[in-house]
Amino acid sequence: MNQTPLPLLEVKGLKKHFPFKQGLFSTQKGSVRAVDGIDLSVYRGETLGIVGESGCGKSTAGQLILQLIEPTEGEVWFEGKQMTVLSKEELRKARRNMQIIFQDPYSSLNPRMSVEDIVSEPLVVHGLYKGAALKEKVIELLRLVGLDTHHLSRHPHEFSGGQKQRIGIARALALNPSLIVCDEAVSALDVSIQSQILNLLKKLQKELQLTYIFIAHGLPAVKHISDRIAVMYLGKIVELADRESLFSHPRHPYTQALLSAVPVPDPTQRKERIILQGDLPSPANPPKGCSFHTRCPYVQELCRNIAPILQEQASGHAAACHFPL
Ligand code: SF4
Repeated sequence: MNQTPLPLLEVKGLKKHFPFKQGLFSTQKGSVRAVDGIDLSVYRGETLGIVGESGCGKSTAGQLILQLIEPTEGEVWFEGKQMTVLSKEELRKARRNMQIIFQDPYSSLNPRMSVEDIVSEPLVVHGLYKGAALKEKVIELLRLVGLDTHHLSRHPHEFSGGQKQRIGIARALALNPSLIVCDEAVSALDVSIQSQILNLLKKLQKELQLTYIFIAHGLPAVKHISDRIAVMYLGKIVELADRESLFSHPRHPYTQALLSAVPVPDPTQRKERIILQGDLPSPANPPKGCSFHTRCPYVQELCRNIAPILQEQASGHAAACHFPL
């Protein structure tokens, strides 16, 4: 009998509301619901893509998972431990196994440090290597990401965007993590360089049994690398499915609109683009009922009053919609 493996990471009812204040006495006027109750499981060796427009809460979700910011509510379970209740020391140890690759390779690397210092920093902080063994480890990490020993003494400004991102990846790999959150990791790069970095990430995943959460606003990159994809809108997951199912049969009108905007290389396969009406509502004042109802071409009366819940519409394919496609 096949048993479902235990997830490496489990997120339950995760919320992050940022309070905002106004007026002479700075009284709290409300809160921005950046992440508004998400549930996720991520399994060892897979890549879970998280996609959505800017401001949908995907990067905040990544920061909450890594415990870089405190959640307002909810739980993050990683390798069987509830991260939100760990002591500082326990959290520091647990964090070794979860790393991040940032969007901007230009600002995420300290311009005054050499590549050797940048990549060795986490190893030194955690007291894992020193002397010749440290240097050897840094060389090994650079080779893993396609850089060479002559790069060791160079500084970030001497590298192209793609090479800088390779340095960021080497640093993220230094502590031998099991989970890496790639937060818009290729968004700042040219398209040709994007595919080189995506291929490198895939190769490393295979070699090192890595698990990725790949956060991006562009669907092509997410499609290239993800096994499953979660689509976020206004702080909530509105659709979650494996890649093939999501791209061949999107069930949520928002996903359908996102997919219709992706250019198709074959002119005979042209599809109709769905232009969403109106702007993304403010997460400080999300619409009542279905949060997508102000822009949805299929809206009905029920949608304006009752929020749909994320539920399975087909095997392994969930959508939060009263009238799924
Ligand atoms: Fe559109 Fe209604 Fe579905 Fe929301 S619940 S996505 S408004 S059809």
